Amino acid sequence: MTKFNLIKQFRTRKIRLILFILLVIFSILLVWSLSLYSERGRGRLLVNFLDIGQGDAVLIRLPSGQTILIDGGPDNIILRRLGEYLPFYQRRLDYVFYSHYHADHIGGLVEIIKRYEVNNLVYAPGDYSSALLDTLEQSAAASQANDMPIISTAQINFSDDCFLNLLNPRLLQVPADQNNSLVIYLNCAGKKFLFSGDNNHRVEQALLALSADQENCDRFACDLWVDVFKASHHGSKTANSEEFLLALQVQLLVISVGVDNRFGHPYPATLERAKSLGIIVKRTDLDGTISFDGS
Ligand SMILES: [Zn+2]
Repeated sequence: MTKFNLIKQFRTRKIRLILFILLVIFSILLVWSLSLYSERGRGRLLVNFLDIGQGDAVLIRLPSGQTILIDGGPDNIILRRLGEYLPFYQRRLDYVFYSHYHADHIGGLVEIIKRYEVNNLVYAPGDYSSALLDTLEQSAAASQANDMPIISTAQINFSDDCFLNLLNPRLLQVPADQNNSLVIYLNCAGKKFLFSGDNNHRVEQALLALSADQENCDRFACDLWVDVFKASHHGSKTANSEEFLLALQVQLLVISVGVDNRFGHPYPATLERAKSLGIIVKRTDLDGTISFDGS
């Protein structure tokens, strides 16, 4: 072997050694940053009202680390939003809820169920059907998701100070209405949130009556006050009455709504009502995704 070849071999080994060391350093940094990323949200309650256009989608990270999605917006923009708010390696959602069957709430869930490992699918069965709902149900049936229909009320406990109360409006003898939605009350780490889908005045009145009924109110909530209320039906005039907002004693009203939507949401009188009651209003059409850090 010539002297030139020896030098060449030595250089090749040196380059390989340097590359190996760099690879080890890169791997250590990657593992370290991933663990930091996953720990960053642990122990904290994070609630993101996602900017998905005209519709609803709320991503919740519980202090226990579990992840909840309430509604999936109208289309696959939800995939982009989840990509922004979940670590890139997280492909699991512990609970996915859909409040009711309308496309602006379930349109994005078909792909979610295909692309994510959804552990539990929670909903309020009702007298409604649509081709989109059929597609969603077929996707859910083909997945590993545990089917959780809420017939009346239910409670899901995550820890001593973190739980969800669920209520199907059918329990309240509310007349059948295509907007009737699963009522979701989150009480976690000392913060309370109410998500009421597209429910209307009749459901609000029935909730007020139930909370005043001392014998039965513990089926859902005897005390309705919350820190944050996701305005019902995108701030529509058919909901969010003064009486209901007063009972909630809400501090922050979040309206999930699309820019220049054809429905005219939110209703100007709803905004005026909130203003006159001193309630802070945030809107996804004006503010983008609205994030609440409950730590
Ligand atoms: Zn809606």
